[in-house]
This record gives sequence, C-alpha cells and structure tokens, in this order.
Amino acid sequence: MTLALALALVLPCGPQAQDPLPQDPPAADQARIEHDLRALVGFGTRHVLSAVDEKGRGTGAARDWLEARFRECVGQSGGRLVVERQTGAVAVRRQGMPPETTVVNVIATLPGTTDAERVYVIGGHYDSRNGNGADGERDAPGANDDGSGTCVALECCRLLCARKFAATIVFVAYDGEEQGLLGSAVHAKALAEKGAVVDGMLGNDIVGNTLGMDGERRRDYLRVFSYAPTGNDTSGRSLARALSWTARRMDGFAVRLVFRGDRYGRGGDHRSFFEAGFPSVRCTEPREDFSRQHQDVVMKEGKPYGDVIEYVDFAYIAKVATLNSMTVAELAGAPRAPELVRVEGARDAYDTFVDVGEVRDASAYEFVWRTTTAPDWEGAQLVAAKDLEFKGRNQTARHVLKNVCIDEVVVGVRSVAKDGSRSRVTAAPEPDATVFRAAAARGR
Ligand SMILES: [Zn+2]
Repeated sequence: MTLALALALVLPCGPQAQDPLPQDPPAADQARIEHDLRALVGFGTRHVLSAVDEKGRGTGAARDWLEARFRECVGQSGGRLVVERQTGAVAVRRQGMPPETTVVNVIATLPGTTDAERVYVIGGHYDSRNGNGADGERDAPGANDDGSGTCVALECCRLLCARKFAATIVFVAYDGEEQGLLGSAVHAKALAEKGAVVDGMLGNDIVGNTLGMDGERRRDYLRVFSYAPTGNDTSGRSLARALSWTARRMDGFAVRLVFRGDRYGRGGDHRSFFEAGFPSVRCTEPREDFSRQHQDVVMKEGKPYGDVIEYVDFAYIAKVATLNSMTVAELAGAPRAPELVRVEGARDAYDTFVDVGEVRDASAYEFVWRTTTAPDWEGAQLVAAKDLEFKGRNQTARHVLKNVCIDEVVVGVRSVAKDGSRSRVTAAPEPDATVFRAAAARGR
C-alpha cells in the first residue's frame, strides 16, 4: 500500500493482526537477555545502600557492568550514542534508611536527527531489595524486579543504536526505585529543566514472570498501565494505545490496556514522568507472583520465596523488549503527533468533520475512531498530506469521515512519516469538556 494513493484508504483494524513495517527492528535476542540477567543477579544485591567499591558484589559493581554494556553499543551507533552516569543526592523518606542518599542512573542517549529535542525513554530499575527495604547487606537478587526491566532497556539499546531516528531515544537503568522512585525523579526533572519534549516514557518493571500463583501460565500478553486524570484520552493513554497498536504486528503477543496508572498500593518509575507532565506507561507481566517480590530468599514450609532467577521466563522478557523497541522505533521515526485536532458533526448526515493542524514532515495523516466504550481504536483512514488542503491562520485541513456518527465515537489523528511510521494519536476534545468548564466556573 502506498501513501501516494489519491483516495483515502480504509484500513481494516480492530484486534486483528497488522502487517509488519519494513523498518521494524529485529526481534530481541533471548539468549543475550538471559546472559545479561544472570550477570545482574550475580552481583548478589543491587540495593542502593549496598557496596559501591566491592569487586563482583553490590550496586557499584552492577552499574560498572551496565555502563560497560551500554558502551559496547557506541561503536555500533557510529559514535553517536552518549553513555553517562547521572548522579543525584536525594532525600529519602523510608523507615531505616538514612535521610539522604546518592542515586546513580546509567543512561545511554541516541540523539535524534531532525527533531532531537523530542525524546522517548525506555527504562527499568536496576536497584533491588529483599524483605527489609533498608537492608544493603544480605542478598536481594532482583531477577524479576527489576532485572527483567533493566534487561529490556539494555536490549532495546542494542536493537536500535545502529539506526537513525528523527527523535532522540534514551535507554536508562534507574537507581533507587525501591526507595521512592528516586532515580527516575532525578532523570525526569533534568529532562524537564533542559526543555526536552518527552513524548513517551516506557517504564518496564516486573516483566519476567509468567507462572501465576494459581498455576496458570500466561506469556501471550503484557499489561500496560497509564495515568489519565481527565477523560480516557490523555497523552499517557495515547502512548499505551501506541503499544497495543504495535503488538498487533507481533505473533502471539498482545497488550492488555489497564486504565489506571498502576496497581493498588504500588508505584514505578513511570510515575516520576507522569508527575513531571510527560506521557508515560508501566509495562508489567500479566501474572505477578507476590511471593517473589520484596522477599528474602528463603524456603517457608516447602515454598520458595525471593526474587531468584529460576522463575524468570527469558523468552517472555524478549517479547517485551521486542514490543518496546518496535513501538519506540515507530514513534521516534514518525513526525510529532498533531497539536490541533477538532471535530464537528454534519447537520444533515451521520458524517464527522475532522480538522487537523499541519505537522512538519508528515506525509500522511491517519484518522482513527472508536466507540466511546471501546478500549482501543477500531477504525482508521489514511489520507496522503497532498490530498488535504491546509489553510487559514492555523494551517488546518478538514477531512470527512463518512457514516461515522460523532456522538458515538472518539475521533483522533496521528501523523505518518514517508516510511509509514505513525505518531501517537491526538484525540479531539470531548463535548463534555465545555460543560465541565462551565460547571467549574460556577463553582460546582
Ligand atoms: Zn520494581
């Protein structure tokens, strides 16, 4: 299918599979991930208070190892990948912990070619803990929480570093997540201060266990959590839907969208980005085993506890890494998401008029819709930019969705690059927004 087609094309969608994009990166390497995870677990503990200068044990040795692995990608990137440590002294409000500690993130940045200030982040936290959150001495292998997510970030760096993208991609191993999302807060704040436009942060935390506590194994889907303080179409939720859209190009793997920011009583590094005003999601396995999280490595009444490597499913982590890399490759290769999308219903037919503001470097625009109760986009029409007439002060163009009744659907638009890469969707404002504003103005 070519974008040069003059007519708007109606694409089949819904939950069915989509064809791969030619620019999709290769699948993640399961054996490499296993090797990485065994090395991380081999440091015994990666607790933020563990040894910083001991050979082969503790957080210091772990971050040296991570930094060395990221540095191995520099050559492959033609010298473009920038690997650095980000250090921050931060306040800690945790029982048994000192009031202040130093966190060290390991960061690899692949600069964008034409829109470098737009940034995508793939992160996992390399720090770990056992049953006592303040214990930096005893073992805390952190195989799944969050050696698995750290391996995803590292593997994605390997899969993408040799290629060029319009936007910047940042791969991060975060420190201090277990002590209050400390490392990610330092990173999100630094990005905000330098004016980065973070268009998506993918937090991978606990992405390696597939055997549920009830004995049922599920390795065919990933849960993606996203914050939405207003409505169901925030930028974070749009990012979550970008992941589920990408998963349609994978065999036997899907995204289950969870329409809340995180699990009850839990947090993750994506929250630091949400709090800084950036779209973010949390990726987590479907079948968490709570007897392996934040536990000492012990046997209790014949049952093993602790976050040890024996229960990690490397093939599953590889799928998560593949999904992360495919999604970010597409978003970073696409133009920016449209800033302006407005809708209006026809007066004499069940048609919807969609106005979209012009986006730099967009070769086409994809108009999408879903019924208001559907979790994800159900219909899509691709229209070449040359077939739209951009005019007026805001350089907007109008497209008509025939036989789409505005009152029953949510409508959005994504911009499309020459190679077919699609941005996140920008949804049109809900009609209720004006009612809510009026009510708020009346103090209700
Ligand atoms: Zn975690």
